[in-house]
Formats: sequence, C-alpha cells, structure tokens
Amino acid sequence: MKGSNIRITILADNTAAEGLSTEHGFSLWIEAGGAHILFDAGQSDVFEKNAQALGIDLSICDYIVISHGHYDHTGGLAYALPLAKKAKVIMHPKAAIPRFSIRPGSAPKPIGITEKALASLTLFPREQIIDGSTPQEFIQGAGTTGQIPKLVDFEGSSGPFFLDLRGEKEDGFEDEQALWISTPTGLIVCAGCCHAGLINTLKQAKSVSGATGIRAVIGGFHLGQASDERIEKTIAALKEIAPELIAPCHCTGERAALKIQAAFGAQFSPAGAGRRFLF
Ligand SMILES: [Zn+2]
Ligand SMILES: [Zn+2]
Repeated sequence: MKGSNIRITILADNTAAEGLSTEHGFSLWIEAGGAHILFDAGQSDVFEKNAQALGIDLSICDYIVISHGHYDHTGGLAYALPLAKKAKVIMHPKAAIPRFSIRPGSAPKPIGITEKALASLTLFPREQIIDGSTPQEFIQGAGTTGQIPKLVDFEGSSGPFFLDLRGEKEDGFEDEQALWISTPTGLIVCAGCCHAGLINTLKQAKSVSGATGIRAVIGGFHLGQASDERIEKTIAALKEIAPELIAPCHCTGERAALKIQAAFGAQFSPAGAGRRFLF
C-alpha cells in the first residue's frame, strides 16, 4: 500500500486531548487504501462521541476489526454496529465467549463482551461477519494476524484472566489478533492489548504479511503489571526491530511507557484520544 495516504486517529483511549472523553478502552479509526476501518470500539459510546467531535463519520465504515473479546474493546460494538450498517466485522468467534478476571480475595469480575454488544452482534447480518480465526488480508496490503503464537520466552501469561468463574480454565487468548498495513518502509501494526505479548504480536504481523520491517506500532502493550526485567527485554527486542514510531496506548502502563519514551526518544509518541498519525 502506498505510504502517503494512511491516516490513523485514536478514538478511545485511557487519556484524551482536551475536550475529548476518556475511558479504560481502546479504539482506532484507520483510513488506508481508500477504506475506512474501525479497529476496536472501546467499552462504551466514548469512541462515537469523540468521532463526532473530530468530524469522523462512522457510517462510512467498511470494516470493523476486533482485537479480542474483552469488554473494553468490544462494548462499543453496541453503538458501532447500528451506525456502521455496511461494515464487515472481522473477529474471532471466541471473542464472543464469557471471560473473567479473578484476583485473589475478590469476586470474579466478568470482563468479556457486554450483553448489549452481544445483542447487537446477534442482530447484525451474518454474512457481514468474517471469521477472524485465521489471518485475513481483507484489503490489498492490509490484514489481520489471526491467532498470535507465543514464541518469545519472556512474554508469558498477561494476568489473572480465565474463561470460567472458578478460575480453572486459563484464557489463552485464542481470539486475539492485531491489524497490519504494509507501506514501502515497513508495516504499521495496530494492537489492542497485546495479551500475547508485544514482540510476539510484531513477529506474527511480519510472518503473515511477509514484510521484513516494522515502521510503526500503535496500541496497548499490556505491561502495567510486567516485571522490570520483562519491560527491559521488551525494549531490547524493540531496539532490534527499530520502528520509526512507537505509540504506547491504553493498557501499556505508565512505568513501561516512561521507560519506552526514555529508550526511544523521538521514535516515541504520546497517545490519547484525538491523536492522529499520518503515514
Ligand atoms: Zn484485554
Ligand atoms: Zn484492553
């Protein structure tokens, strides 16, 4: 894909530019190769309110790509689907199953797709829902990664996440996928939460697209609870990959984001709803 007409706007994030709303959630509006893509929909209607404030018309959306089934990425589908009537939705079937966070000493918390979002999905035309369990190059030069294999030894389990209320079935995030866009100088990778690990995600994006380099990575890196050692190893691996833009969003964690900023300087970009990237 030609690198000159790609525009990515953060619609929902844990921080926002003045005048826009924030939430614990993530959503991107991607304009690439003439297509309009909503990548994740946040947990509520925040992405929609911010889109309106930014002059973005969600009804022209061609594709909705869902990174994984957590409520903070799928809850907004309840608002996105009725607006984006013509869109094709690319998601793993398992993004719609119940999920829980279980921390010692507190009751299990449901963190899967919300009932309201699930109801909107059920009403949405079946033929517009694409099975994301395998990589999909849905427009020429842009696609999804499919399931992300865990190849890197320091990127293991990402938290107390389970598929059952008793905490017996650990969530392996089979449903997780990232989005890639190829440009003449490497891939732009958009990630939701990187539960499978940031470096694993970038490896998979390269592997399915056949690209050799990563130009940019934008998304939640899920390093809030990560050990300093894991953060240092992630930074060392990122140094080898050498993207020209690194924008840690959403669940990256402030400690990790500050370390990434210190390590990468000008390659680091602050995030937050309203931030726009042009390629
Ligand atoms: Zn998540
Ligand atoms: Zn998240």
